[in-house]
Amino acid sequence: MKIGAPKETYEGEARVAMTPDSAAQLQKLGYDCVIETGAGEAAGFSNAAYKEAGVQVVKTAAALWKAADVVAKVRPPSETEIKRLRDGQTLISFFYPGANEKLMDLAKGKGANVIAMDMVPRISRAQKMDALSSMANIAGYRAVIEAGNNFGRFFTGQVTAAGKVPPAKVLIVGAGVAGLAAIGTATSLGAMTYAFDVRPEVSEQIESMGAEFVFLEFEDSQDSAGTGGYAAPSSPEFREKQLEKFRELAPEMDIVITTALIPNRDAPILWTEDMVKAMKPGSVVVDLAAEKGGNCELTIMDEKIVTKNGVTIVGYTDFPSRMASQASTLYSTNIRHMMTDLTPEKDGQVVHNMEDDVIRGATVTFKGDITFPPPPPKIK
Ligand code: NAD
Repeated sequence: MKIGAPKETYEGEARVAMTPDSAAQLQKLGYDCVIETGAGEAAGFSNAAYKEAGVQVVKTAAALWKAADVVAKVRPPSETEIKRLRDGQTLISFFYPGANEKLMDLAKGKGANVIAMDMVPRISRAQKMDALSSMANIAGYRAVIEAGNNFGRFFTGQVTAAGKVPPAKVLIVGAGVAGLAAIGTATSLGAMTYAFDVRPEVSEQIESMGAEFVFLEFEDSQDSAGTGGYAAPSSPEFREKQLEKFRELAPEMDIVITTALIPNRDAPILWTEDMVKAMKPGSVVVDLAAEKGGNCELTIMDEKIVTKNGVTIVGYTDFPSRMASQASTLYSTNIRHMMTDLTPEKDGQVVHNMEDDVIRGATVTFKGDITFPPPPPKIK
């Protein structure tokens, strides 16, 4: 069978779902690989590099979709792309089925089998396919780099002949995968890092990454802890305590990186206009929750603004694409691991085993049926 990656069509998307290295691995699984011309260019992978890795380069998207039995993509397919699907073809990409019912219907109508990388169950066995985490890790890292790029001072403290420089103070709100990556990056640059999360169990992880856990005195520390490792919306009392604490911290913090999310909801507003006003000129807020409405009240999605009091607020939503080479390398590895599980005999033939928890969990359409939402996984 052939597995192929088209050039991403979403404006500004620089990632690609197959790299020359991942193609070499896919060939070891028995597949022939095909790529649309220029698909890897924005991520630093030339047609020549693909050819050298034994990949066939085709001239158009139409030719790619026609040639490939399995199409690997990054972004959810556009309607034009969905129309290219055919009976029995497999599509693997981010899909967000809960928000993309129409696309799911169209894929079902085409008889294609769609595997959503965002639906890979977050169980230990599937960590190697967990593209949400690999991309969140990059976003957390890049958020710090983006903050540094907009911050006119050092992260680290220095004592030099020209004077003493205090370290920057960085607050990370939300310590999931992205938040922990941001903590690690800011700490390694020498900043004094502080972090808060509603799930008290992450305090140890926060501290092990070198940050100070912002402790909130509240009777019920489990208030917003939620279930299954995810956060739940906070009670009004808890939220008030949290905002009170952030108001206290706002004038001191040079950089605030917000990553707080609650599954299937808009992002909670945690960094309010008055907090931004209380920050020093030159401070930076990077809002990784911008796509879900933002954690900062003033965030404008996909834009960078500077407030009247000189605070920069970054609301970009394309952090992984801004590190397209790294992101493509990690994402294509996630895809390759998915293909390994789909190819038990390593003979270049897809075995779409719906008895397998991970494959079942990620499959949103199969043989003309919608299979989303999946049953809960049996194995931890
Ligand atoms: P996420 O992107 O859903 O949310 C980011 C963080 O925001 C979470 O830590 C959440 O607790 C926090 N948050 C929500 N509301 C907040 C508020 N009001 N104030 C402060 N923080 C708030 O998180 P994620 O990175 O997807 O991780 C979610 C869970 O999934 C974690 O328990 C993580 O360990 C787990 N996980 C497991 C696996 C695996 O087992 N393979 C992989 C990745 C993540």
